[in-house]
Amino acid sequence: MPKKTMMLCRPCADKLSVNATVRAVRRGVDMKITCQMCGRRRFGAEYEVGGKGYEGGVDDHGGK
Ligand SMILES: [Zn+2]
Repeated sequence: MPKKTMMLCRPCADKLSVNATVRAVRRGVDMKITCQMCGRRRFGAEYEVGGKGYEGGVDDHGGK
């Protein structure tokens, strides 16, 4: 399964976690980041995104 790290704000991380596996790389740290989902400068963290299908492409065969 492909995995990548993304800088995400909280709302986007929540949204992504519905369809993908989202894991905070540095837990409990809130820092000012530029969110890679919404492109805004907000408080967020670095997340490892992987699993079922994240924004940017789903290329698994079969299964939900
Ligand atoms: Zn965002």
